[in-house]
Amino acid sequence: TPKIHIAGLNKYYGQGHRRTQALRNVDLEIAAGEFVTLVGASGCGKSTLLRTIGGLEEYEEGDIACNGNIVDGPGPDRAMVFQSYSLYPWLTVTENIRFCRKLEFHRRNLTSTDVEIASGRADALIALMGLSHVADAYPAELSGGMQQRVAIARALMVRPDVLLMDEPFGALDAQTREVMHDLIRHVYLLEKTTVVFVTHDVEEAIYLGQRVVVMAPHPGHIDSIVEVPFGAG
Ligand code: ADP
Ligand code: ADP
Repeated sequence: TPKIHIAGLNKYYGQGHRRTQALRNVDLEIAAGEFVTLVGASGCGKSTLLRTIGGLEEYEEGDIACNGNIVDGPGPDRAMVFQSYSLYPWLTVTENIRFCRKLEFHRRNLTSTDVEIASGRADALIALMGLSHVADAYPAELSGGMQQRVAIARALMVRPDVLLMDEPFGALDAQTREVMHDLIRHVYLLEKTTVVFVTHDVEEAIYLGQRVVVMAPHPGHIDSIVEVPFGAG
């Protein structure tokens, strides 16, 4: 089975005469370990498709499955990273990364072993993301690039099968973005996760993706899919 299976997906926003179609007849299969980029002009439905895969948007027609399980809400198998880092401002870097996982555990009865494993995982991710020297800093003390590293580490805490990224580097300057591109490729290879990465930047899509899914608007649909021989893998 593919990691992500989407068939005949139609998605609408609004009610009655305001109802508009945002996605039309989307079919897409993503294999385990693939790095797929979704590219297209602003407003073509990239975010909508990603959020629907993430379980943040309802859909009324078609099927979406992750590991063969129907998607009907968010789950730890699909972690999301957004352009805005949305960290807890009153928690340190380490706490932001650990705390999120703890909240997950709390819902299913935390044991002390769980906490230890979570701490170990957090420390490993802090090192991997180059955050050791700011582990005790607060988000407001960090640059945008460093804050996004924290958000990515936090997303990886749950060992998601799929990492869903919505223009994660869109707010960063060109130089920082290049550093982040190398970092995300490194993380992807090491963690062996499946990545779906949304961007409106064609260059970024081709640089990062093994497969580039090109979307077109009115309503959003897949225009073409391009294989990139020298993509992230
Ligand atoms: P992209 O990510 O490619 O910029 P979006 O998925 O954000 O595109 O938006 C696709 C279309 O759906 C746009 O026309 C947008 O205005 C519309 N849209 C997105 N979110 C909503 C919403 N919550 N309610 C109504 N329309 C929306
Ligand atoms: P992005 O395209 O990066 O998702 P936007 O600025 O287009 O960012 O959208 C930000 C938020 O506003 C999203 O939650 C989106 O669903 C919502 N949104 C976008 N377009 C509309 C719209 N036409 N009506 C209502 N909500 C919208």
